[in-house]
Amino acid sequence: MNDYNYILKQIYQDIQPLLGKGRVADYIPALANADRNKFAMAVRLLDGTQFSIGNIDETFSIQSVSKVLSLTTVIAENDEFLSTRCGKEPSGTPFNSLVQLEYESGIPRNPFINAGALVTSDQMYTNLNNPKKDFLRFVRDLSGNRELEYNEKIARSEFKAGFRNAALINLMKDFNNIENCIDGVLDTYYHQCSIEMNCANLCDTFSFLANYGVNPINNKKVISRSVAKRINAIMLTCGTYDAVGDVAYRIGLPAKSGVGGGIIAIVPGLLTVSVWSPGLDEKGNSLAGIKALELFTTYADNSIF
Ligand code: GLN
Repeated sequence: MNDYNYILKQIYQDIQPLLGKGRVADYIPALANADRNKFAMAVRLLDGTQFSIGNIDETFSIQSVSKVLSLTTVIAENDEFLSTRCGKEPSGTPFNSLVQLEYESGIPRNPFINAGALVTSDQMYTNLNNPKKDFLRFVRDLSGNRELEYNEKIARSEFKAGFRNAALINLMKDFNNIENCIDGVLDTYYHQCSIEMNCANLCDTFSFLANYGVNPINNKKVISRSVAKRINAIMLTCGTYDAVGDVAYRIGLPAKSGVGGGIIAIVPGLLTVSVWSPGLDEKGNSLAGIKALELFTTYADNSIF
């Protein structure tokens, strides 16, 4: 077996020159002061063994990483969702782009760009009795951690400054692809993005995707094996926006990033690995985080290819 402690130490050393570099997601005012020198990384094997390094106790808002979790709740209920209301092809455009959406009549390319995540949140809003409460309960169950919370300050800050998301959802409403009231759906979406975790929580929460749909923490089936395969496939092809080609090339794992600087990646049948560092590259992915994952699959020799 790999010596993951040794591998993480090596990675931590190698990424040092990238710390302090990149840009933070200052379009969300509450994230403008994030410290680009911070870095944490965690690995969780399916048997629960954990390894970690760096600022491992620090929590951060998971942002777009939450899009995988909202999609999970939706496709468990609505298998036609990805053929009717949203596509599953890479967009080739930035995560918050409006351009493609008008050409494609309000049907987002995939559920992991903002437009697709907003339709997913709309479907979640239709499906759940109390969307914010029920979604938080779902994530707590996955993580095995009852303490996880929304960060109200971040959710509010993003709602106030979220002019692009407001534009995307209004355009989709005009195309009849939003069922519920816009403010309610935006509020749900911003809250899901604001959930705070540390890297170990991220690894726990996503372990069901490494374990073919069954949460290894409590042995509960979350989704079928086939749906787990599909979600991993969409992470591989759409999880890091218009950098997916580069990420598949360099890392070779299903992965999902967020502008809070967090990234989760899945090695099916083996482990989850998460990383956090707030300095972002020009595509909105953590600069040190992507490099760390590239080194991880190189040193541990465990990409899916
Ligand atoms: N909450 C962020 C937004 O809507 C999520 C984007 C991201 O993490 N890429 O812009």
